[in-house]
Amino acid sequence: MVVAGRQKSIAFFIALGAGLIAICVLLYVGWVLLNWRTGVLLFLGVILLAVLIAGVVLNTTFLVREIRRNEQQDAFINAVTHELKTPVASIRLYLETLQKRPVDDDKRQEFYRIMLQDSDRLLSTIEQILRTGRMGARRLNLARVDLGVLIDGCVQRTRSLHHLNPESLAFDQAESIDVLGDSEELEAAVLNLLDNAVKYSKPPVRVRVSAAPVPDGKVAIRVSDSGVGIPKPELKQIFKRFYRVPGPLATKVKGTGLGLFIVKSVAKRHGGRVWAESEGPGTGSTFVLQLPVMQ
Ligand code: ADP
Repeated sequence: MVVAGRQKSIAFFIALGAGLIAICVLLYVGWVLLNWRTGVLLFLGVILLAVLIAGVVLNTTFLVREIRRNEQQDAFINAVTHELKTPVASIRLYLETLQKRPVDDDKRQEFYRIMLQDSDRLLSTIEQILRTGRMGARRLNLARVDLGVLIDGCVQRTRSLHHLNPESLAFDQAESIDVLGDSEELEAAVLNLLDNAVKYSKPPVRVRVSAAPVPDGKVAIRVSDSGVGIPKPELKQIFKRFYRVPGPLATKVKGTGLGLFIVKSVAKRHGGRVWAESEGPGTGSTFVLQLPVMQ
């Protein structure tokens, strides 16, 4: 609802700007027809018209940018408040239950397991927010990184986090490839892609990861899943900060919309790029992270 309202006001300001420019041009044409003999007036008119049009364009750009900034702040507050509050509320509820009434051992262990899961979720949200904030300010800690080893580590971590077997999350390593990069950032990028591939898959999870050289001295890391897929118009949008594909899935699957923004920033900072491929909802997706190879 709010997003639709914002889109309408953006469209309104663009239409207003275009309308005002059209009126200016009309006025000017009329004015030229009336004064076509007086050269000086014509010259002054051209300048005045150019200034007016530039002013209107500037004004419209400024308004649209401000609305977009507001929109991002709202999205941040919505996503982050929910992701911070929910696990804390859940932990508090279990602690209260444990404090108020006797709970048998099995139930107690179950409560501990849920509380640990909630605190992991809280930690990962905080880590995502801090990483996003640090992105611009932190300098890269560059070193030679063996991509195979790095991806293998991420795959193992994701498997143990989501209790997956090697068949559900497989890594095909063709050959050893080195890149010049910041291992902490590259790891965060790969982990985000793997986490998404699992999060947006329906059981049985089938995620394939590969890293292979491509032309122009680059290496392509491909993460393919057979999950929910992505509508074509959303393929670029999903890399925006706080953006989540709207619909019932966004409420069902937890997230802040920061993961892919982090992946894109990491790719850019390393002279690479990232993009998503999908034939649409229900067809799975592939994310490709391309980085320059270190010779
Ligand atoms: P989050 O997962 O926290 O919402 P991301 O920035 O990682 O944030 O992803 C943005 C959006 O892109 C997600 O909300 C989801 O709609 C979509 N998305 C990301 N990865 C996948 C995937 N592997 N399959 C389908 N949709 C995906």
